[in-house]
Amino acid sequence: MSSSVRVNNSDVAGVQQEIARLADLPQVGSACAWFRAGESQLAQWQLEVASIPAPPFGEAARGEWLKKRFRELGLEEVHADEVGNIFGILPGPGKYGVTLSAHIDTVFPAGTPLNVRQQADRLYGPGVSDNGAGVAALLAIAAALQSGGISPSAPILFIGNVGEEGEGDLRGMRHIFSTSRWRDLIRYSLVIDGAGSDTIVAEALGSRRFEVIVRGPGGHSWSDFGAPNPILILARTLHAFAQTPVPASPKTTFNVGVIRGGTSVNSIPESASMRVDIRSTSMVEMERLEASLRQALESAIGEETRLSARRSPPNRPSSGLSYEVVPIGNRPAGELNPNARIVKVIRAVDAHLGNVAQIQRASTDANIPMSLGREAIAIGGGGAGGGAHTLQEWFDCSGRELGLKRILLTVLALAGVAE
Ligand SMILES: [Zn+2]
Repeated sequence: MSSSVRVNNSDVAGVQQEIARLADLPQVGSACAWFRAGESQLAQWQLEVASIPAPPFGEAARGEWLKKRFRELGLEEVHADEVGNIFGILPGPGKYGVTLSAHIDTVFPAGTPLNVRQQADRLYGPGVSDNGAGVAALLAIAAALQSGGISPSAPILFIGNVGEEGEGDLRGMRHIFSTSRWRDLIRYSLVIDGAGSDTIVAEALGSRRFEVIVRGPGGHSWSDFGAPNPILILARTLHAFAQTPVPASPKTTFNVGVIRGGTSVNSIPESASMRVDIRSTSMVEMERLEASLRQALESAIGEETRLSARRSPPNRPSSGLSYEVVPIGNRPAGELNPNARIVKVIRAVDAHLGNVAQIQRASTDANIPMSLGREAIAIGGGGAGGGAHTLQEWFDCSGRELGLKRILLTVLALAGVAE
């Protein structure tokens, strides 16, 4: 929760009239009717997509499946780009477009037993909600727009993107926004991630992750005593780094999650490494913490070199130390302008639907457009879900219609409807 995205209520009233007008259009009514009529088709799609493995960097089969669905639903220019993102366009006359995207990758490594199944209104299986619910929502919106015969005033770009989870590091979105065609076309980005309709991610939680590796000459604990010790260097680094002050606002955190090194109790280690995670909504704070980590490491190296020289016999030079700080993750932080239209629109849609949703800060595909100063939010695909990133993941279809109407009205308000 955060208070930094504040919306002027009088603006919302204006946008709310626009939402009410949109919702009253007969073609929007028939699009919404598809959500109820199409629920069993949606559940079927969701089971199918979750049954196709899509580990990070292995999303191609799922991408092929999605391309077929996009074509069946009448989207144009259906294609995959160089990194495997799948595109389909509902054309419109405007110069700027709106994206509706859902990541197609999962956290589950290749070979994970998927065992996707349905029992009454519930779907079970890894990835069924994150992001089976998002992919199903994309298809639902495309199907509803087709069924209602709606022509948007601006192009709507449907994207099933790769590389959201873990070491994918947002590579799919990053690629889209580094491609000039899309970068210049996209005005608003609506990211659908997981289930639910009670959240609005309007702040991008950034993260930087590093593997710190220290190498030394190693040796026998007794006969080579004095040689510099990489584990001692990491210990000194951590002691100093952990004292770095962090602000409560913007909330900024650090963690050392993995530490490895050494061979045996009577060996001076040849190497030691650790993995460090830094998070904030502020790029400045993340940079400050990274600088503090590097500085702590450099002084630990200096200190160990000095002490090692002191404890080594005079005839044996104590050297051979080296270190690396390898970036293993980099997600940019960002915040929306408090007057961003996309927040007014989703707020007004929620008011129209009587839906209660909280503004949240998280790390999603929306980080990329937000860090570039673009208007973007991430919301759920409706229904309810749980057990994300576990083999016990589930999705409950009941009430999905509300979440889908919410997405439809938001997209249409952002793109406009040609009448
Ligand atoms: Zn997700």
